[in-house]
Amino acid sequence: MIDALAASAAWTQGPGPDLVYAQYLANNEFRIQHCRSCGKHVYYPRLACSHCGSVELEWVPASGRGVVHAVSVVNRSADKGGPYNVVLVDLAEGPRMMSRVDGVAHDAVRVGMTVQARVAAGAGKEPCVVFDAAEVAP
Ligand SMILES: [Zn+2]
Repeated sequence: MIDALAASAAWTQGPGPDLVYAQYLANNEFRIQHCRSCGKHVYYPRLACSHCGSVELEWVPASGRGVVHAVSVVNRSADKGGPYNVVLVDLAEGPRMMSRVDGVAHDAVRVGMTVQARVAAGAGKEPCVVFDAAEVAP
């Protein structure tokens, strides 16, 4: 019985999902979780599937393809770096994530824009996922 309890608690051992995600990013890999039980993808990193509750989650490379679902511009003062965009992107695998689109004017990002993820340096120089426009918006 103790063995069964230990086996059932195995998913609580080892580094937490936030740390695993950060370690992949530090290795320049953008990975998300895939549920072996229901087949859906999960993001933000979790111990249990947000769709079905299963703890049978595995880390898989994300395609990085996505579509902008929503965009907002933060009007930061010029002496602090100027305005920047904040986006919600629907990943091709299904999950929605918050990020930013680089390489275009802060006010040129549009809902419905196709974007591609890459790992970049965040505000504190820690690796994070940002997006580039995958096509020119009309
Ligand atoms: Zn699931």
